[in-house]
Amino acid sequence: MTAAGPQPGQPVVFRNATVLTMDDSHAVLTGTDVLVDGERIAAIGTGLAVPDGTAEIDAAGGVLMPGMIDTHRHMWQTAMRGYGADWTLTQYFVYYYLTWGKKFRPQDYYAGNLLAAIESIDAGVTTTVDWSHGLQTTEYADAAVDALESVPGRFVLAYGNIHQGSWEWSTTPEFRDFYSRRIDGKGDMLGFQIAFDLPGVEGFPEKATFEVARELGVKVTTHAGVWGATSDVGITQMYEGGYMTPGTVYVHAASLSPDSYHKIAATGGFTSISTESECNAGQGYSPTWKLRRYGIPVSLSQDTSVWWSGDIFNAMRATLNADRAMEHFEAHGAGNTVTNHILRAEDVVDYATRGGAKALGLDSVVGSVEVGKKADLVLVKNDDSPVGFPILHPYGHVVFQAGRGDVHTVVVNGTVVKHDHKLVGVDLGRARAAIDETISYLQAEHGPEEWENGMHPEIPSHETLANPYTYREDASTWKESE
Ligand SMILES: [Zn+2]
Repeated sequence: MTAAGPQPGQPVVFRNATVLTMDDSHAVLTGTDVLVDGERIAAIGTGLAVPDGTAEIDAAGGVLMPGMIDTHRHMWQTAMRGYGADWTLTQYFVYYYLTWGKKFRPQDYYAGNLLAAIESIDAGVTTTVDWSHGLQTTEYADAAVDALESVPGRFVLAYGNIHQGSWEWSTTPEFRDFYSRRIDGKGDMLGFQIAFDLPGVEGFPEKATFEVARELGVKVTTHAGVWGATSDVGITQMYEGGYMTPGTVYVHAASLSPDSYHKIAATGGFTSISTESECNAGQGYSPTWKLRRYGIPVSLSQDTSVWWSGDIFNAMRATLNADRAMEHFEAHGAGNTVTNHILRAEDVVDYATRGGAKALGLDSVVGSVEVGKKADLVLVKNDDSPVGFPILHPYGHVVFQAGRGDVHTVVVNGTVVKHDHKLVGVDLGRARAAIDETISYLQAEHGPEEWENGMHPEIPSHETLANPYTYREDASTWKESE
């Protein structure tokens, strides 16, 4: 291997890895080699013979797994990374839907998408759904796709526009023209979904958008079961209209009735669960503990970097936390003790890889480490970290021990896009310049006071309980040292 790392087009072999295949049997292989030749995984085995000129990556002490998949991220909002850390969902809606969201220009979409796309591949997220819901015109959509296509990741553009009814924008000639110009025929590197929500508008005008999706042969993704925004009414409209079709993605699905969950399960729907989002913003309690009972398949997502990040390690960890927390909470309420967990580290790794591939109709393409699949791979390995060893429970290691800083190598569609902890051929400076320009523009539009206020919403009044006990120094083992 040259000092520059594997070159484009050069076959690559990972040597001596612990491999989480995520195949149907969830085989975990140790001391195993994985050969990537062209776009695909060419061979898996021990002591593999490889073609002349193959680049070798020492994967000993590391975990090789399928590239992770984020099925719902508002990538444009990465331009404002972290700005809404203390927001509720209401504040988010007021900010983006009703006030400042409309100020974004196409170049701001470009900036946010570019940074988010780079963040994805850096973190081992090889497929990201760009839930792009502020595309005021197709000029915005062109900017969004320009950014995605300039980064060597796999993406799905989920086209949406919160500033109009979906039945308005989705039925225009411009929308059709955009689809044929930029999406149709792009294959599995740039997929497409139509993204809109069903708040229960009388007369079900969204029917027109479902018809467009049907004509184009593309799937729908929708924020469903979001407390205060979308409810069982939207699910009923879809069901009665015959639009709950297989492959529809229900994002959050946090606050629905048993009847709606049964409908999702029975019609071949998938969910996209953003546990950090549901736990912080208020869509409803992150629902994997319910979805398991209905047999509804789960994929993971991080929603938006205006609060959180593009880090699917966090999504896996948060999902296990929320699911187990609810199990314990429910049990304690009934006076019981949970002695065995149902949801395992293995399950959330599946949600983050194979689950995402299934939700996006890409299961025959990516999502597992199997010969013949496209090579989207992540090597988690950090020889300089005290957290890098021992690796005793590889799933548990990935979920609770590792983080995106431990992503050593990333392969997308057979090309090494990150090697030895460094992105390959990615110009972060270009993204930084674009973001700087966007932030200067947004700050000027807001003015200094509005800009600060937007970040620091009012804290509601809350009281500390009166304590019936009084502190007495002689009753404590603690003594103040002067
Ligand atoms: Zn969302």
